[in-house]
This record gives sequence, C-alpha cells and structure tokens, in this order.
Amino acid sequence: MTNYKCARCKARIGDITTVGIQCTVCGSKVFYKERPNVKKTIPSK
Ligand SMILES: [Zn+2]
Repeated sequence: MTNYKCARCKARIGDITTVGIQCTVCGSKVFYKERPNVKKTIPSK
C-alpha cells in the first residue's frame, strides 16, 4: 500500500482519487509517495 504525504504540511493523505489529489489540510497539490518501511539491503560480500 502506498501512502502519500503532503509536501507542504507533511499531512498524510489517505484518500487518493485518480482525478486529482488535494491536501485536505492546506490545499496543496504537491505530494510525494511514502513507502512503508522498505529497506534496501545490499549484500556486503
Ligand atoms: Zn497539506
């Protein structure tokens, strides 16, 4: 599951519509995706 965060107020956006995303807090339309704890493990060998 992909979470979206508002780039301005860092509020989490739960409801995503494909028509358009707008922050319900500050009205910003700039968002970035937030991945739920994905760590890249690089093998050291
Ligand atoms: Zn916002």
